[in-house]
Amino acid sequence: MEQQDKVETILAQAGHYLDKTTGAVVPPIQPSTTFARDESGELYDSSRIYARDQSVNAEMAEALLCTLEKGAACKLFASGMAAATALVQTLRPGDRIVAPKVMYWSLRGWLITFCEDWGIQLDFYDAGDMENLAQVIQAAPVQLVWAETPANPTWEVVDIARAAELAHQAGAQLVVDSTVATPLLTQPISLGADYVFHSATKYINGHSDVVAGALICAREDERWQKAALIRAQHGGILGPFESWLLLRGMRTMHVRVQRACENAMAFARHFEGYPGVKAVMYPGLESHPQYRVAAAQMKGGFSGMLSVRFEGGRENTARIMGRLRHFVRATSLGGVESLVEHRALIEGETSPVPDDLLRFSLGIENIDDLIADLEQAIDA
Ligand code: PLP
Repeated sequence: MEQQDKVETILAQAGHYLDKTTGAVVPPIQPSTTFARDESGELYDSSRIYARDQSVNAEMAEALLCTLEKGAACKLFASGMAAATALVQTLRPGDRIVAPKVMYWSLRGWLITFCEDWGIQLDFYDAGDMENLAQVIQAAPVQLVWAETPANPTWEVVDIARAAELAHQAGAQLVVDSTVATPLLTQPISLGADYVFHSATKYINGHSDVVAGALICAREDERWQKAALIRAQHGGILGPFESWLLLRGMRTMHVRVQRACENAMAFARHFEGYPGVKAVMYPGLESHPQYRVAAAQMKGGFSGMLSVRFEGGRENTARIMGRLRHFVRATSLGGVESLVEHRALIEGETSPVPDDLLRFSLGIENIDDLIADLEQAIDA
């Protein structure tokens, strides 16, 4: 793949894939779990022994993601959670990790239990407040700083360059969950991050039909080698068929993400100040507390994700959600179809998310239909 080629060209052509023997422009699926040796015991391909360690199809998508993120290496996992937990499991008892107060709910829950069980200290910081991050980092020795930006579902934006600086000054490494920003809008490694994480289930696949995770590293350092070993030993690799589907989804990622960003921006602008709307939370609005950081750090759009808070509390918010006709009431995000979710309801009593908030994942539908849908649900 030519480094100087533009991202759209690389993606559309799946890294300029061309099967030299058949001329096929679409790669085949290679399902073999094992790889043979010749008469003298030599492997036909020395990089392949067993499919729990290596995968032909995963490697194609990994190469593409690595190029987009400007990383040194990429590993695909069977889910976002499998990728995230593999990286955190490289910590040793007595180590410390700091993480944002608001972040992907299931990962936060797992972190709390895992850190308690394995004697790892876990401290939380306010995602949008770099002074608070500095204080939390400086309070004690720390090995890993977890950031998620924009942070699901309130969309605080972390200043990645500043977070990397703070982490490195303390001798720690920074990992950025860039699921919502996608590899197209932000490249955390260029801003100083040591690792990038994606739930590839979302925008990277984009069709709500593959569960996958990705880790990309700035350097193949000791932690990276350990996370890669965890993938192989815990059996966390993404299967060939899922990898193939992921690569197919990635070929249109630039078009899908651009449209989702445009739809989200139009939706956010339309409903900011709309009667019955308390607040629209979207990094692309000037009213967003970290708008300046987002504008500097996110190129080409502010993502397809936003949240809206409504007058009338939890009951009215639930009623509005119930009246929506185009937005599908479902969890997840980043697909071509627009979704809506009442996060506080899903996360339960201990959720830090306000209960008058609906999270919207803007898909690629006609924006007039989406705006009209929420208007009728509010106005009814
Ligand atoms: N990070 C973010 C921001 C997410 O939204 C999700 C899933 O919703 C995850 C991580 C976990 O990824 P997965 O569901 O692929 O395991």
